Amino acid sequence: MRLRSPRRGSSLPDDCLFCRLYKEGDHVREGDGFVAIKDINPRADVHLLVIPERHVPSFREVGEFEPDEAKRMLEFVADTAREAGLEDYRVVVNVGEGAGQTIFHLHWHILGGHTAGLP
Ligand code: AMP
Ligand code: ZN
Repeated sequence: MRLRSPRRGSSLPDDCLFCRLYKEGDHVREGDGFVAIKDINPRADVHLLVIPERHVPSFREVGEFEPDEAKRMLEFVADTAREAGLEDYRVVVNVGEGAGQTIFHLHWHILGGHTAGLP
């Protein structure tokens, strides 16, 4: 089996906030290579972020994930929403500055309940 280290691939900025939060954040959920945290500036009644351990700058580089890893990431998003008690919700990924991305480590927004605009 071909294994890709999460540290390999795209260049890893030493000061990446989400690499740090993956390691030492206040996680509401942890899985194999993924964590979920509460967004610090919630735009919905429930606003969680799913952060993969693997550092890629954006969704554009999602091909750097192994197929199994990518599938597990999507399942982690769905399971996190379910465990948060959400049946109906939005999943948002901002891709690039022009689309509102501010943290350049791929992450998935889960928004449930009343939503006040897009993150
Ligand atoms: P994006 O704008 O799509 O890159 O999303 C980045 C998200 O990270 C925003 O919704 C921020 O509110 C959130 N955020 C920034 N810093 C933190 C932090 N220290 N803990 C939790 N969420 C954060
Ligand atoms: Zn990172």
